[in-house]
Amino acid sequence: MARSPILLIHGGAWDIPADLLEAHEQGVFDALQDGWRILERGGTALDAVETAVTSLEDDPAFDAGRGSFLTRDGRVQLDALIMDGATLRAGGVACVERIRNPIQAARLVLDKSPHVYFVGPGAEEFAQANGIPLVENAELVLDRERRRLAEAQAREQAGTPDRSFSGRPDPDSSEDSPQDSHDTVGAVALDQYGRLAAATSTGGTLNKDPGRVGDSSLIGCGCYADNASAAVSLTGWGEPIMKLVLGKWATDRVMAGRSPEQVAPEAMAYLLRRLGGHGGIILLAPDGRYGLAHNTPRMAWGVHTADGPRVGTSLSDEAPLTGEADLY
Ligand code: ASP
Repeated sequence: MARSPILLIHGGAWDIPADLLEAHEQGVFDALQDGWRILERGGTALDAVETAVTSLEDDPAFDAGRGSFLTRDGRVQLDALIMDGATLRAGGVACVERIRNPIQAARLVLDKSPHVYFVGPGAEEFAQANGIPLVENAELVLDRERRRLAEAQAREQAGTPDRSFSGRPDPDSSEDSPQDSHDTVGAVALDQYGRLAAATSTGGTLNKDPGRVGDSSLIGCGCYADNASAAVSLTGWGEPIMKLVLGKWATDRVMAGRSPEQVAPEAMAYLLRRLGGHGGIILLAPDGRYGLAHNTPRMAWGVHTADGPRVGTSLSDEAPLTGEADLY
């Protein structure tokens, strides 16, 4: 029997200011529409998450693709991962500077390479050899982000980082909690054949050191999909999420019998309790149950089921968003 598809999206979890709420909701809504079109025509979860994340990468409101945060030396450096829960095939790229849609390069790795992960110039060469045109890094850099970087570096020099929401420093580390924003994007989907997929794409953290890779594109950290457990995408402070291998932590709990609606908030509580980390999560099981959670003031989220789309920029004002898709 065909299963009713589901698509979940996030567009980052942080203290999204009032003047950016509409752009975030609109971007998530547009990506939901693009991804859903694939699912409702009988397309695969893998194509749906790639399409939804491409739409978010193309939207400069988010920290993915053009308009991403800048490295300490003023460049865009992008990471992305896509994973097919039916086969466990995965493709990832990191530290790419000349690819407009890194999720599409990641998809090519999944489809065409015996390897799983490419970084830097090797990733760009692989993408180009497989038909992706390379762009100048400057085409991905917005003036808005040059100003944001200058402000962050001025705050850093003055020793007054912006603490717009609480994140404690990791007690085991000298790293400081990155303060301002987390606009990484991600999607998880279930298609009518019962297959799960996940995709996450990011420009990383503002003012990061060149070459730094966060959780988003690392398997089991910011992204994971396995039909035997669940599909997950995370956003937030990457270093603690990586240390906890938090995506796999969450999907393992679903495999052990807990529901995604329980596990999603538990993962965020664990992140805060164990390492003082902050972020957001979308989690979807192969039986159609799902959970979303964040431990930041806001998270841009969207859910599309056969009942239609829902988007928002916080879950805290309502009961935790959970659900289940009906069988056709
Ligand atoms: N998790 C991402 C990273 O650390 C940042 C984000 O979610 O905005 O690279």
